[in-house]
Amino acid sequence: MKKRREFLKVSMAASAGFWLPGQRNFPQTATSDIMAIAAHPGDGMFSMGAVVAQHIANGGGGTFLSLSLGERGHNSIPTTEYGRLQQEAMEQAANSLGASASFLNYPDAEIPFNEEASLVVCDEIRKVKPSIIVTHWEGSWHKDHKNCYQIVQYARFYAGLKTLERTHPAHYVGQLFYAENWEDMDGFQLDTYLDITSVFDKWQSACALFPMWRGETGFRYNDYYKSLATMRGCLSGFTQAAALAAATSTGKKNEGILRKY
Ligand SMILES: [Zn+2]
Repeated sequence: MKKRREFLKVSMAASAGFWLPGQRNFPQTATSDIMAIAAHPGDGMFSMGAVVAQHIANGGGGTFLSLSLGERGHNSIPTTEYGRLQQEAMEQAANSLGASASFLNYPDAEIPFNEEASLVVCDEIRKVKPSIIVTHWEGSWHKDHKNCYQIVQYARFYAGLKTLERTHPAHYVGQLFYAENWEDMDGFQLDTYLDITSVFDKWQSACALFPMWRGETGFRYNDYYKSLATMRGCLSGFTQAAALAAATSTGKKNEGILRKY
């Protein structure tokens, strides 16, 4: 058992991150990219940022796509200014992790789930050509998060559809994971632990670039996500870990099998 674990660790260090669900012996190549698609910049960095940072540390590339700027999330800073602060924070934070950041201009709280949005995200996926997407789980009380989940389902399908002509050629994304997010916990069933110990400090510093990280918007993001990573680490045998739910190749239901990477 110990040997098996060591083998996985060695393989993991040489690869770029995850294995396809059910195919433990097929690691990603070191050049693969991960794409975090979130409704708001804070979601991308706080709930998906450590996963992106770990993938980059393992030799891959990373991109954060925010569907809105989350500009309506602060009670005292005007929306235009807060949107700018959010964008700047995300750009700096992504840069500090070696990732890139891009943004769509849907209004915060009004991200639509429709064909147009799904095709726009399809185009972003085709542009980045990730092998892994990480996004929101559908069981959220936040309508933007729910819509982001739905958009990603459609966008992933459209991105891989060869007969759908867009600016960029079709690209099939083999792996889809849902991140653990305090607002998206309804029915969230983790099946994957990712060791984020080596990137934990860097990721925490990146998160601290956001005003909301320090509790300015009412929720103590810093305490929650720091504690969560530590708690998941306790349960998985790592110092710090991220918990994820893997989607099947075609759908939303995860397999319910625990994996550690
Ligand atoms: Zn959000």
